[in-house]
Amino acid sequence: MKKRIGIIRALLYYRYGNFFINFFKYLGINYLISPETNKELIDLGVKNSSSEVCLPLKIACGHLLYLKDKVDYLFIPKIIYPYEKLYTCPKMMGLPTIAWYFCGKKKIISPTIKRNFFLPLFFLGLKFKKNPFKIISAYLKAKEKKENKKLSFDNEKLKVAILSHFYNIYNKEIEDILIGTFKKEGFSVYLKDDLDEKILRKKDGFAKNIRWAFERELYNAFKYYSDKVDGICFFFSFACGPDSLIGEMMAKEAKEKKIPFLTIIFDEHSGKEGMITRIEAFCEMIKKKKSL
Ligand code: SF4
Repeated sequence: MKKRIGIIRALLYYRYGNFFINFFKYLGINYLISPETNKELIDLGVKNSSSEVCLPLKIACGHLLYLKDKVDYLFIPKIIYPYEKLYTCPKMMGLPTIAWYFCGKKKIISPTIKRNFFLPLFFLGLKFKKNPFKIISAYLKAKEKKENKKLSFDNEKLKVAILSHFYNIYNKEIEDILIGTFKKEGFSVYLKDDLDEKILRKKDGFAKNIRWAFERELYNAFKYYSDKVDGICFFFSFACGPDSLIGEMMAKEAKEKKIPFLTIIFDEHSGKEGMITRIEAFCEMIKKKKSL
């Protein structure tokens, strides 16, 4: 029977998931993706993880455990530098080792990626297919170019930028709470991932000192939006070291520039109502400031 690879719908899935799925698809490899994060998966991850780690990592563990007995292999790439020599977070890099613990080393397929995605995926492809040209072709076809939204700021009365990692925000429930509440309050919402790579990867000013790829992106998005929107909301997970450092920097700069800045820290115990109330109060404050 054809072997099946499991892909967890967590963490870097929200950045590279389509690319990896297309690669497997074009190569004719059978795969299974875990479902959208739900309460059951969160509980499974929380129950089986250390209380010290961030919620996104606990959720990733829930997805791992969900797929564990449904597939022959689990695909957990170890992305050290996604681009330049900028690191991902150590907890992301440690996920393949956590997966060994849960599922056994033999089950985990974990190519190590340091900027170059091609070679690790090429060797992975060779495990399943003999024809190297087919692997190269699958890789090239999978590399689709992301189209960025055209952003306009001039005609919008109320504007807010929500800054957060892709895996925090692209979840139906969180989207409804965060984006939904701002929209209900009449705000146009701008996200970090709406911005072009060129903006997110800038290395001028303080950004050049940030050695974590996704934190540099958050900071660059903050800089870009800070003179274009009426307020900035930073949404991050409790126990996230990199975000708490960058969050402090952004909050300090926002204070100096008098930009309304709301920090929401969440974990598995965060209540929906509490978050909505804080967002509504923040919106009210911006409206008063603008005399609307
Ligand atoms: S960056 Fe923060 S939220 Fe993301 S995996 Fe690392 S510690 Fe967790």
